Amino acid sequence: MGEIKSIQSSWAAVQDHTRHFSDFTFVYPVISRRSKGLSIGVNLNPDKACNFDCIYCEVDRRIPGAVAEVDLRQMKDELTAMVRFAKDGGLAKEPKFDEVPWLTREVKDIAFSGDGEPTMIHNFAECVETVVEVQQSEGLDETKIVLITDAAGLDKVDVKRGLKLMDTHHGEIWGKLDAGTEDYYREVNRSNVKFDRILSNLLETARARPIIIQSLFLKVHRQAMPAAELEAYCGRLNDLTESGGQISEVHLYTVARPTPEAFAMKLELAELENMAAAVREQTGLTVAVFP
Ligand code: SF4
Repeated sequence: MGEIKSIQSSWAAVQDHTRHFSDFTFVYPVISRRSKGLSIGVNLNPDKACNFDCIYCEVDRRIPGAVAEVDLRQMKDELTAMVRFAKDGGLAKEPKFDEVPWLTREVKDIAFSGDGEPTMIHNFAECVETVVEVQQSEGLDETKIVLITDAAGLDKVDVKRGLKLMDTHHGEIWGKLDAGTEDYYREVNRSNVKFDRILSNLLETARARPIIIQSLFLKVHRQAMPAAELEAYCGRLNDLTESGGQISEVHLYTVARPTPEAFAMKLELAELENMAAAVREQTGLTVAVFP
């Protein structure tokens, strides 16, 4: 009885129109160029936990996260409410989207991303199951389920289970690779996880299904990535494909907003385009640029 009451009150809370979606804890809407439209983000790290400490990260970890754990029922209710709000045209009327209202009715993807690394959660597969339930109950037959990841946890048993479920429900994995050498990786991503482990996780994952590699290139202390590092980066991509990894596309992007670390700065579009051309030439892969 208590459980039913709590289901009802959780649903009532997200249905309450006085409660704006910006108050949601786990779910948020964004118009994403990389998603080509509306992406509904699912934040699996409300505690802001991450095993990277990227110099360009925008998450302010000096302020603690709102809650420590993902409440699956609340996440499901928020996601369902957000999908319906988008489909009914409610999002289109929001000031935040008034320049692109036509993009807000179709949910292009539901993306695990947010304030940390999604694969750090202990029940990733259960989170995928919950999103799949909403995808099915709301008739989102064309909507992708995207995992945006730093790749450090792709070798966990529970995560692999979640990835398999994603594979049969329009799943797509966007794995981060910002460097070609351990040194540059340590400088930019500042992680204790070994670079080799990131590479082997990407390889194992890309052997099982095609993945997208997403790479943020930037200026560090006014220096763009050195040519030798870019060459090494292309070498790592070639290692992946030559070992049986499938890379459907490479997404290159740069810093979008000022970062807490002032020495991490955006690249100009021309610089990013030049790097993309070099990656295309050295790897033969499809490279898309998102300035
Ligand atoms: S992996 Fe993402 S969340 Fe983690 S530090 Fe880097 S940018 Fe921030």
